[in-house]
Amino acid sequence: MLRFDIITIFPDMFEGVLRESILKRAQDKKKVVFHVHDLRKYSADKKHRRVDDRPFGGGPGMVLSPQPLFDAVRKIKGKRSARVILMSPSGKPLTQVHAKRLAQERNLIIICGHYEGIDERVRLALADEEISIGDYVLTGGEVPAMAVADAVTRLVPGVLGKEASLQNESFEDNMLECPHYTRPANFRGAKVPAVLLSGDHEAIKTWRRRQALAKTKKVRPDLLT
Ligand code: SAM
Repeated sequence: MLRFDIITIFPDMFEGVLRESILKRAQDKKKVVFHVHDLRKYSADKKHRRVDDRPFGGGPGMVLSPQPLFDAVRKIKGKRSARVILMSPSGKPLTQVHAKRLAQERNLIIICGHYEGIDERVRLALADEEISIGDYVLTGGEVPAMAVADAVTRLVPGVLGKEASLQNESFEDNMLECPHYTRPANFRGAKVPAVLLSGDHEAIKTWRRRQALAKTKKVRPDLLT
């Protein structure tokens, strides 16, 4: 079973996401387990439960302090070995390759940043890797952590019903996925390509591959290089 420990100042944000769809089913099947930790519980400031402070050198915003994060990771890890991931816009972009690699782990600890970011000593001493979910800045690391949890969980063996469906997905073979159609064959004049109704499996396979290639060339040529 893959265990996720998520450290955040907004634990309630995870409630809905973890209670629905594949993430819920994966937990019901005991393929993954999620523990969401409120960073404020680890603050040495028991009165105000403060977890941030002003940046040295000046500048706008607040920075998450090292003490609560160091104590949280040490306590959560205990004697287990765990891979610690820092969500950050300056991390390596999340790809399907990363998700597959992380799906092989037993313990993942995900740190969600907030405000201006996280004290650099956390990155240097605690994090095994820094992951970004794209070249844009979000308010906090919670949505990025959910993206990682979702992308990784669905790749844990036994989580998805039809394992085969993973094989033809986008980013396999460095390509985007081919288009899909379902009933009706003619929807308000827009017809399904005839080959998909032909029953000729070889022809369908070839058509799908060509479509995937054409789409990748047009939308994401970088994948093909
Ligand atoms: N000042 C930071 C910068 O310019 O890189 C941005 C901080 S952002 C407002 C607050 C937190 O949100 C970050 O510490 C990180 O945990 C999370 N975050 C924001 N955008 C992200 C992204 N694209 N990928 C991963 N995490 C992100």
